[in-house]
Amino acid sequence: MVGLTQYRSCAPERVTAFVGLGANLGDAAEALHAAIKAFDDIPLTQVRAVSSFYRSQPIDSSGPDYLNAVAELQTALTAPALLCHLQAIEQRAGRERPYRNAPRTLDLDLLLFGSARIDSPALTVPHPRMAQRAFVLQPLAEIAPGRVTPAELDAVAAQAIVRVKNS
Ligand code: ADP
Ligand code: MG
Repeated sequence: MVGLTQYRSCAPERVTAFVGLGANLGDAAEALHAAIKAFDDIPLTQVRAVSSFYRSQPIDSSGPDYLNAVAELQTALTAPALLCHLQAIEQRAGRERPYRNAPRTLDLDLLLFGSARIDSPALTVPHPRMAQRAFVLQPLAEIAPGRVTPAELDAVAAQAIVRVKNS
């Protein structure tokens, strides 16, 4: 009889990934809810946790306030494949890129992919600007306190962001 452990090595490796969500055009709350729902339709991927929503003023961007959140996913996809699905969800939400850092209907950034370090033209992980952004670090700390240090939170404490209800 073959032991269960032998079959386990045949299963695809599952990775915990964190995705940053942001929107500041149209119905931002609806865009975030729809994106979270769409994550569950990504193949080989499940949503494990979603932070509260946070309202923040645009940083390096313009237009109305942003609504931000972070989601924890478990996935058997590769990081580039996951990013490809995230970009498809952005496109379906009407994402346009008229210029760099333009206001957006939906922005999905791959923040962390397990302990992977990736530096390719299309994908950098950990996300290169996450350490400078309270709207990433605070929701990430809410659902994964072990992934953010108090010193990192202190460094962005001057950025005013407000936790709001998820609806
Ligand atoms: P930004 O989120 O930086 O304001 P965009 O959403 O328009 O800008 O993304 C620009 C490009 O950044 C994408 O085409 C994508 O290939 C690249 N990119 C590199 N690393 C990442 C990452 N970790 N998450 C999401 N996009 C990334
Ligand atoms: Mg982006």
